[in-house]
Amino acid sequence: MIVCKFGGTSVGDAEAIVRTASIIRGRLHRQPVVVVSALGGTTNVLLQIAEQSVKGQLIGALRAVEGLRDRHLTQTQLLLRDDPASADEVAGELSAMFDELAALAEALKTLGDLTPRSLDAIASLGEQLSSVLVVAAFRQQGLNAEHVDARQVMITDDRYTRAEPQTDAINEAAQRIILPILRGGRIPVLGGFIGSVSGTGVTTTLGRGGSDYSASLVGAALQAEAIEIWTDVDGMLTADPRVVDNARLIERIGFEEASELASFGAKVLHPSTIAPAVMKGIPVWVLNSRRPEGTGTLITFDAPRRAVTAIAGKTKVTLIKVRSTRMLLAEGFLRALFEVFERYHTSVDVVATSEISVSVTIDDASRLESLVVDLRVLGDVTIERNRGIVSIVGSGLSDGGATMSSAMAAIGELRVHMLSLSSSGINLTVVLDGDQVAPAMQRLHAAFFREETA
Ligand code: ADP
Ligand code: ASP
Ligand code: MG
Repeated sequence: MIVCKFGGTSVGDAEAIVRTASIIRGRLHRQPVVVVSALGGTTNVLLQIAEQSVKGQLIGALRAVEGLRDRHLTQTQLLLRDDPASADEVAGELSAMFDELAALAEALKTLGDLTPRSLDAIASLGEQLSSVLVVAAFRQQGLNAEHVDARQVMITDDRYTRAEPQTDAINEAAQRIILPILRGGRIPVLGGFIGSVSGTGVTTTLGRGGSDYSASLVGAALQAEAIEIWTDVDGMLTADPRVVDNARLIERIGFEEASELASFGAKVLHPSTIAPAVMKGIPVWVLNSRRPEGTGTLITFDAPRRAVTAIAGKTKVTLIKVRSTRMLLAEGFLRALFEVFERYHTSVDVVATSEISVSVTIDDASRLESLVVDLRVLGDVTIERNRGIVSIVGSGLSDGGATMSSAMAAIGELRVHMLSLSSSGINLTVVLDGDQVAPAMQRLHAAFFREETA
């Protein structure tokens, strides 16, 4: 069997959902399990609805609820126009979820407090809606699809908004719930991104972009032959095509490189996606649902060794510098420092040390205030917001000195705040001003992928 995951743009409207159905029709002999994201952009709107409600802006929030309802019901009518009875049934089911959303918005307005748990109750609705709609559309297209409530399979801890999946429980549930559907010759369809707390069943989410992660966890649980991530670009490219015009397709890439790229900004793949697949040796493909005949990118262990495979970047990064008041590398100092980040569940992306200071970057600054309070115990703390990072990733990056010197030459006079070469030697990361990320990516891409830009 294989797992096919369709991102938001691949299920964005009726036309896209019909394309998705035809991709699955061509794969029936491989026993596909389908994982779907919310209709493109829905999760962002849901999060705005939660924010507005809690700020007391209920009229705006309810207007947004109705906007989403309209969009979903319009696509339902388009998809099911030949079968009015089933169109009414699905519209009723979706509408009930929108009524629940409106009730949640009103409750948040009254409470005036947004907990991570209630945020997940709202954010998870996108995938609950899309999975119901996709099942109905698939049936209409002649596919024998069956809805699976992802929350019964994706068992997690209770870290709402970025819950940790519990693999043993997921393996057991996937085999108990999904396998019989496959054995019956049907196509299981479940929403990505969402799960529920082990024991209590309260709804959780796996963090933004988490549908890729769901697909990979299901694939690992069922020992899939392959995991296919269907998106709106031809595969993993040498850079984000929204930043670099002539980014080109990477046909094969190693798990480790793909994972570094994802972590350092290549949004095409959720960073955690690779781990469950790699542990089971399952190949992951990234494919374009608008151009299904394309070859896509294959992510595996044994990929060609290249000096530079791709350039990734991200903005809105926070740089934290801790200057020690005592001897920095004294025993226990670094441990104490990283314990602070662990305490606030904040992961560190880039690290550099000198004799007297340690600099780290973080992506998620939501716990910055508490972090700073605890870090001050260790030394003087400086915070620099609006930084960005650019990473040059390649399995053969450190094979000779030429790549490093070309990289530094390309960065030229742009101000570098921090520099780090990963010990595995496959990732060179520079921290820059946030607004320098795009120009730095463009310069580096031009330097390393010259033939294509000439
Ligand atoms: P989906 O909704 O299918 O999950 P995403 O928006 O999460 O899609 O990811 C696809 C987007 O990732 C692309 O449209 C592209 O702009 C962006 N992207 C960033 N870096 C890369 C890269 N190196 N290769 C391909 N796409 C990339
Ligand atoms: N819908 C979720 C998000 O937008 C998950 C996903 O699409 O992967 O973050
Ligand atoms: Mg995504």
